[in-house]
Amino acid sequence: MTVVDRAEPLLPLGLRLAGRRVVVVGGGPVALRRVGALLSAHALVTVVSPEVVAALQDLAERGHLEWQRRVYAEGDLAECWLAMACTADADVNAAVVREADAQRTFCLRVDDARTASAWMPATGRSGRATVSVHGDRDPRRAAALRDAAVTAVEAVLRDEPDGAGRRAPGTGGRVVLVGGGPGDPELLTLRGFQALAEADVVVVDRLAPLAVLDGLREGVEIVDVSKIPRGRSTPQEEINALLVDRARRGCVVIRLKGGDSYVFGRGMEEVLACREAGVPVTVVPGVTSAVAAPELAGIPVTHRGVSQGFTVVSGHAAPDDPRSTLDWAALARGGTTLVVLMGVETLPSIVGALLDAGRQGDTPLACVMDGGLPTQQVVSTTLAQVLSAGPPAGLRSPAVTVIGPVAGFADS
Ligand code: SAH
Repeated sequence: MTVVDRAEPLLPLGLRLAGRRVVVVGGGPVALRRVGALLSAHALVTVVSPEVVAALQDLAERGHLEWQRRVYAEGDLAECWLAMACTADADVNAAVVREADAQRTFCLRVDDARTASAWMPATGRSGRATVSVHGDRDPRRAAALRDAAVTAVEAVLRDEPDGAGRRAPGTGGRVVLVGGGPGDPELLTLRGFQALAEADVVVVDRLAPLAVLDGLREGVEIVDVSKIPRGRSTPQEEINALLVDRARRGCVVIRLKGGDSYVFGRGMEEVLACREAGVPVTVVPGVTSAVAAPELAGIPVTHRGVSQGFTVVSGHAAPDDPRSTLDWAALARGGTTLVVLMGVETLPSIVGALLDAGRQGDTPLACVMDGGLPTQQVVSTTLAQVLSAGPPAGLRSPAVTVIGPVAGFADS
């Protein structure tokens, strides 16, 4: 559904970008929200910028996009189907538009849409319907029309005009922790989605469903506080202070995390910080990757006659690490499916501890990487194979490891 509200004639299109090169010039939060949408359209994204926010750096390091770490230079748009001028420098943005025009490539421009050959509509999703609205270059108007259209679409889809979805009107600043699910925006809950529609500020992690950022109304402040394993990270105290500060200024602050906020997400620390500061805080549960990543790869964490339970543990500290408080021998004998998060680096020593405690060498083990993302991959092996041959080839973070007979169900 497309609503066009404007004087100048416009052709609304749906671009099929899978496998096509798109160049984004600029690496700030504005670029981040566009990149999230481009990746979910399976575009081949190149970001040109001397600096990028942590989430973009992480995407580059994980191979989801190409990062040219330098200032834009003429020629950067060669071979691309679409360009986006997203820097804070008007001259650079103008130069990008000029190059794009010269080679007949459509180009968006964040700071001055009038000179651009293409405009980003405000978009919203409801079920399988996508709503896109062009609001005569007025992003607020477009977002308001979009919201109205999404609401109408939802009502039609729900088939009950005055049905669910009502919420108390929010006054004053507050914080909502939203569990974003494993990464696919469609695995965000409806309540999480509705909370995002009210956001003034979104404080986001690298494993949250980044594609939803693009659906936010223009003007929403996006703060990237990603913690990259052994890389850039924002201290937890700083995140807590940020949430409290923005809420005290009267903002609706959405803390968007991957999976569920209370499963290795430090969500409770943020809730306690808000409570101590007297800031109203609520939590919207999310679909945890501990269950969803295996499930998306065909693995049930329990299965009648095979596994009567599952135990979710952090593999962050290896079994022989003094910081580890887990009884790995008990886990080996526990008879439940073992689900390990943050256990890519420590996999060999985890496997060693389980075998030492008597777990059978032929026990299946599966690692699900990028669960719920277009790049999802699963590798299957056994404890004995990991012991003799090392971790499966291509194993990388983020991954959920499942150990136990149910891992044998993994999609090949
Ligand atoms: N709160 C999150 C977990 C945070 S800890 C949740 O409930 O899912 C981070 C770990 O979660 C990663 O190291 C990885 O083990 C796992 N993880 C998160 N998202 C993932 C995904 N899409 N695919 C595979 N593993 C994921």
